Amino acid sequence: MQPMQSSLPHGGQLVDRRLDADEAGAVASGGLASLVVTAAEAADLRALATGAYSPLAGFLGAKEHQSVVEQMRLPDGLLWPIPVCLGLPDGIRVDGGRLALRDERGRLLGVVEVAEVFERDRQAEAQLVYGTTDPAHPGVARVLDAPARAVAGPIQAVVEPLDGPVGSRALTPSQTRAAFAERGWATVVGFQTRNPVHRAHEYLMKCALEMVDGLLLHPLVGPTKEGDVPAEVRMRAYEAVLGYFPPSRVLLSALVAPMRYAGPREAILHALVRKNYGCTHFIVGRDHAGVGSYYGPFDAQQLLASLPAEDLGIVPLRFDNAFWCRRCQAMGTAKTCPHPDGDHVALSGTQVRSMLAAGQLPPPEFSRAEVAELLIDAYRT
Ligand SMILES: [Zn+2]
Repeated sequence: MQPMQSSLPHGGQLVDRRLDADEAGAVASGGLASLVVTAAEAADLRALATGAYSPLAGFLGAKEHQSVVEQMRLPDGLLWPIPVCLGLPDGIRVDGGRLALRDERGRLLGVVEVAEVFERDRQAEAQLVYGTTDPAHPGVARVLDAPARAVAGPIQAVVEPLDGPVGSRALTPSQTRAAFAERGWATVVGFQTRNPVHRAHEYLMKCALEMVDGLLLHPLVGPTKEGDVPAEVRMRAYEAVLGYFPPSRVLLSALVAPMRYAGPREAILHALVRKNYGCTHFIVGRDHAGVGSYYGPFDAQQLLASLPAEDLGIVPLRFDNAFWCRRCQAMGTAKTCPHPDGDHVALSGTQVRSMLAAGQLPPPEFSRAEVAELLIDAYRT
């Protein structure tokens, strides 16, 4: 494998659509019509403004939507797997011009220069992007529940530091790129997760880090689904795991973006976003970004492997599930350990959750005690 020397943003340039305080004040008092956005749309808006979704500079229009849904590409041919849309609820009149975007409390988040209002083909989007129109799929439900009309156009958004221990970790792509340069990392592997990290993930991160200069542990902290562990708890658990890495080799940052659970297509999005954050390599696990049994365990890895390397511009590192093997006396995967399942310390997600909820520590070969204790505390409160 030939390591890349640096990572160019997708499309060549990092998009910066931040609204400064003066501009935000003018927009807030400018008498523009307002649209209250959902939590997921607000997270997308921030990702657009910081360049996490480069080359996108705004919410997609009809032609782009169709091209992304059907071809997995923007109209100019650039790889882009999932539409980023802004729903326009009934009753809101748009006559062109600009629309102020606000959260439920009325705070100004940004502004969209309205280029187009179009009927979003939500059925086609669900079927082609998610592979199903089943409303039990949480990502599909969000698409089908979105308004039939979408408003498109370039955005600008307020990118303020977020509150709390998670907010201070929410670096922008230009900030992580600067941090990598400061550390002298030419090659960086990104690890996406929305869950606590146990020994198995620690092992994958260490295997990957053996091949590159640095590791970006980049948990997603946007809106997720019910039952996911709260972001504040997860951040403390990640800090505990990173105690087992040299501090000069790791960076923990939070990615503010909605989880879509789109499996293979979302694995591409996760890789492109990490490319924008400056990563050269990206870990793709088993059933990456999947939910339930909608996707095969290696569908995401196969889709990524099928793409021309220059289209992706970041090297996917494909891993199977890892476990502790009692006979190897080591961590391994089906690729590296010859012993049967009975020799492996493996717990299902459900088993781990019920142990933690009962205040029981999983075996130390499965989970670091300091991580498990944080999770037990969280389940008790
Ligand atoms: Zn073994």
